[in-house]
Amino acid sequence: MTEPVWKKIDSLARELWDLALRIHAHPELGFEEHQAAAWLSEALEKGGFRVERSAGGVSTAFSAVHQANKPGPRVAILAEYDALPELGHACGHNLIAGIAVGAALGLAAFKKDLPGTLLVFGTPAEEGGGGKLKLIQAGLFRSVDAAMMVHPADQTLADRGSLAITEVGIEFRGKAAHASSEPDKGINALDAVIQTFIGLNALRQHIRDGARIHGVITHGGQKPNIVPEHAAARFYVRAAENAYRDELVDKLRRCAEGAALATGAELDFRLMGHEYKAIRPNQALARAFARHIEDLGYPVEMPEGGMGSTDMGDVSWEVPAIHPYIRIAPGVVPGHSREFCAAAKSEPAKAAMLAAAKAVAAVCLDLWTDPSLLREAQEEFKAALTAKQANR
Ligand SMILES: [Zn+2]
Repeated sequence: MTEPVWKKIDSLARELWDLALRIHAHPELGFEEHQAAAWLSEALEKGGFRVERSAGGVSTAFSAVHQANKPGPRVAILAEYDALPELGHACGHNLIAGIAVGAALGLAAFKKDLPGTLLVFGTPAEEGGGGKLKLIQAGLFRSVDAAMMVHPADQTLADRGSLAITEVGIEFRGKAAHASSEPDKGINALDAVIQTFIGLNALRQHIRDGARIHGVITHGGQKPNIVPEHAAARFYVRAAENAYRDELVDKLRRCAEGAALATGAELDFRLMGHEYKAIRPNQALARAFARHIEDLGYPVEMPEGGMGSTDMGDVSWEVPAIHPYIRIAPGVVPGHSREFCAAAKSEPAKAAMLAAAKAVAAVCLDLWTDPSLLREAQEEFKAALTAKQANR
């Protein structure tokens, strides 16, 4: 069945590329992806899917289903389509959308001969809003047996991890005063923010490899002749394990508390609700994906460089899941750059999108035709979950 499905995907190449380019040309930020969600929904409806718009109460999410004729695994392919401020599709989520729709339409054409149910979830706001978390909370993953998506990159990787992340907001309230004539009457909130950064920088020597704490000052005062009465900063705290990320958040809190004590400013330390878990890629599914993507001419590479964070991490705690990467450019092209934005609409990206769609479709076929794959994936998932709970 793989060959006919792949041929079908090839026959849809022009339509899929048109969709990916249209999304690229109309970048929409997280939870504002109305056009992209509509375009994907229409394409899937045309392919025989029943589409529920605003799935989980999220206006730019959707859930599409192609029912089973015969019982079998319920497999979900996830589509992202949000862009970045200023940079547009510099993370290539337009291609993730094309890959998901390509795999889905390729499989749908032969669905009457296949067991199992095919789902496509439109998952908005990966870049900070966490659309997948909302869909998890709404219960969409409760009846899913396996979930997958493919992200574009400058490498092809089958099972790269991701870092757990928490966004922290810090505000200090001090006391305004003339900075020259009566500085002794003031309490300097900006100094408290600076002291927080200094404490944090001292901490860096003593944190585990791979953990990341990075911040920006969002308020630093008004004029040099006024002692700043209000200053604020935002931090992302990331680590390979959810529990260690939480430990680092506590250490950052103590840096801020120390700064408050030293300066006399009042601290407001807040978790901003942007929190993703570290991904645990399912090795059984990743091996299946690797086999197919290599057959399609994309050798799996050794991961280079650091890792980011994704709300697919949370999905990987709910069901066996993979989030592999496909190379869309010949050389090194960092994500979230203007160069990556250009690569996401290039000819190599088109070829990569089609190959990834085929590989995803092939893993779905494996799950539907070889019960041992799902069994293996689920056993591994349960074992990993037990280990992860022990870790928390
Ligand atoms: Zn991304």
